[in-house]
Parts: sequence; C-alpha cells; structure tokens
Amino acid sequence: MREYDGEATAGRVKAGRPEFFSARELLAASIPVITVNHRGAARLRAGHLWVYRSDLVPPVDALAGSLVHVRDERKRVLGSALYSSSSQIAIRLLTSDAIGAEQLPALLREHMVNAIEFRRQVAHDTDSYRVIFSEADLLPGLMLDKYNDVLTLQALTQAFDRDDLRQLVLDCITKHFPGASVVERVDPHIRELEQLPPRESQLIRGESATTIFTLNGVQFHFDGLGGQKTGAFLDQRENYAAAARYAQGEALDCFTYQGGFALHLARVCQSVTAVDSSRPALEIAEQNEQLNRAAHKTGEIEWMEANAFDLLKDYATAGRRYDTVVLDPPAFAKTKRNVPTALRGYKELNLRALKMLRPGGVLATCSCSFHVSESEFFEMFGSAAADAGRRVRILEKRGQAADHPSLLNVPETNYLKCVILSVI
Ligand code: SAH
Repeated sequence: MREYDGEATAGRVKAGRPEFFSARELLAASIPVITVNHRGAARLRAGHLWVYRSDLVPPVDALAGSLVHVRDERKRVLGSALYSSSSQIAIRLLTSDAIGAEQLPALLREHMVNAIEFRRQVAHDTDSYRVIFSEADLLPGLMLDKYNDVLTLQALTQAFDRDDLRQLVLDCITKHFPGASVVERVDPHIRELEQLPPRESQLIRGESATTIFTLNGVQFHFDGLGGQKTGAFLDQRENYAAAARYAQGEALDCFTYQGGFALHLARVCQSVTAVDSSRPALEIAEQNEQLNRAAHKTGEIEWMEANAFDLLKDYATAGRRYDTVVLDPPAFAKTKRNVPTALRGYKELNLRALKMLRPGGVLATCSCSFHVSESEFFEMFGSAAADAGRRVRILEKRGQAADHPSLLNVPETNYLKCVILSVI
C-alpha cells in the first residue's frame, strides 16, 4: 500500500514531464485540450491571458464558449481558459491550473467576489463604479458597471453568454447587490463577432432601468435602456475631481458628451463652454445641469453642438482665450494602423488648446486610445507645445480610475491617459 502523496506524482516532479498527470488533471480529463504554438505559449508565460487563433496548433476541437485546457507543444500545462470559436482572440485564460468543469463555477464565483472586494478597497466613496472589468478581474469577457442602484451587465464572449454562466453571474450579483436592478447591455457588433444570435438590451432584474447617480457630488441621469445611451465614462471619475482641483476662470470642455467634465468644472469656474457634436448627448447634459443647479451653485454653462476641430480653429482665429481647457476626444486610433493619423488629430487639438490658454491656464488632455502609448502621447504633446511656443508644466499624469484596474502584463487593460498641465 502506498500513501497518497499529494497531487503531483513523483514522475512529474522529477522530470517535469506532463505525461504523468496529477489526480486533479485525471479528474479533469474530459475537458478538451488545445495546443498553442511557441508564440502563444510565450505570451501566456509572460503573463498575458490571450492566445490568438493564429497561434493555435490544429486540430482544435472545442465547442464555442467551452472550458478548455491549454498546453504547449511539449504538452506542458499552461492553464484553463474559455474558448471562442469565432473571435481572433480564441483563448482567454482563467487560471494557470488545469481545472475540471465542476470547478469552473467556484472559480468564477471566487473571481467575482475578489472583484467586488477590490472595489470596496478602491471605490468606497462613490455610488457608481465598474464592478467587474473583464481581464483585469480575471473574468475575461465580463463587464459589470454600477450606476447607483442600477447595474449594467455585458457579456462580451461566447462563454459568458452561456445560460449556465449567465445564471451564475446573476446569482452572484443578486447576492452581493440585493435590491439593485440589472440591465443586460448588448453590443450588437460584438455579438456578431462572437457569432451569437442577436439579442436586445433588457432589464433582467428589478423594476427600473433608470436612476440618478452621483460622481464626486455631481449628479447625472442614467437610463440603461434609453434610445440614447446615458451614463458616464466611469473611468474618468477620479480625473473629473482632479481637473476640478486646478480649474478656474473661463473654461472650455471639448467632447463633453453628457457633461462629465463640464459639470465638475462649473462648480469652480466662472463659466464653461461645453462642446460636442452629438445633440442627444447635449440634451442629456442640459438635463444633468438642471439636476445640479437645483442643489448647488454652479457657473454658467453654454452647451454647444459643434465639431470640436472646427470650433477650436475658429475660436483660436477669433482670439478667444480660456483659463481652463479639457480635451477628452473619442478613441482616434481604433487599430495600430491608425496611430499616425490619430497622433495628428491629437496634435491639432492640443496645439490649438495651448494657443488659447492664458498664462497660468490649465489643460487637462486625455486619450482613451489603447494603441497610442503614453510615450507617444507625451511626444505628440511636447511637439504641440513647441509648435505653439508655450512652456508647459506637468501637474499630474493620470490614468483610468482605480475601479478600472489595469492588469500588469495585459497592456490592453491600460488604455486611458489623462495629463493635467499648467501653461506658463
Ligand atoms: N468627456 C466625456 C466623454 C467624451 S466621449 C465625459 O467625460 O463624459 C467622446 C465624445 O466626443 C462623444 O460624446 C462624441 O459625441 C463626441 N465627438 C466625437 N467626435 C466629435 C467632434 N469631431 N467634435 C465634437 N464632439 C465629438
């Protein structure tokens, strides 16, 4: 008789060979195994969670959205992952262990609870924050945002669209956020990419998809199901507060959307001109202004429907001057190939903004393009400052709010840049 000596067999420890399976691996033997080439394996060993389809070694025999085991070409275990049969990102790693199907629910629950606990640490003074941020919470393909008492859920992969996993996620939400409404937000483009049948956004728990939520004491309307998406860029929550710490005088907020920065600036500035090309977004911004005007003293806000590039050009030519400017454009670089064009766009905006700032003025400038790196962004900005003939001091280098954590070694989770500067 031999005593059970733990999970690793002697053979495995000695030779490091995968042919000798642990007890746990044997139990999990029914899980499909996907082999990845050296590039895929190197990526996972370097701490990334993705393997692209081009790095899978055929034959690949796994069902859409299933749990798979990942191995390198020498059959060494790299972990367990969720598989997509259609996305270019074929594999999203969940854990470096080989787990059995019966362990998946507990693992996902554990990652969800970790995500919720982490927010208690970093987002305790707000009613609105991102509760689950996909890869950064080791729940690749799952997003959960909290807007006061309404939660919005997004399943971005085949796996999290499975009925059993959806139910598991919903049960966990109900347990940790009792009484909150839950809206499932559907991105039709993503469902198409994942080859999932079309589905409408819908209220799946609770009575109402609308609420009012508060960021740094500023109130916003939220409608999880309205024709026009309302809400906020929660990733900017801490940057709103930071910008308001330095803002003063006459302010210009370009790409205001529903007034995120503008409403914060109005608390401390004499006047704010807030620009966006979307009329529906500005209509909600105006309603948000009413909401806050009732409770607080705020500076004048002028909502302008305009193309920010044209407006900056015209205002600069007309000799308009500001004490505070915010630039928070949409992602100009959606792919790596767009980066040079995106940088030209960023430079044009920043150059004009710098020219319009009075001495001592403050600029908060952002980029949410993951493909534009922080160093490229700074280089662009340095060149804009030189061309504008302005000297600039860096007040704060910032990123996304702490409830949108970035996972080291998964650079895609680190996308937002926000720099606050003072012009001499
Ligand atoms: N600063 C906002 C988020 C901006 S999102 C906040 O904190 O909530 C980007 C916004 O840019 C969108 O509202 C979009 O309508 C607007 N936009 C896109 N292109 C534009 C352009 N050329 N001129 C003005 N607004 C534009």
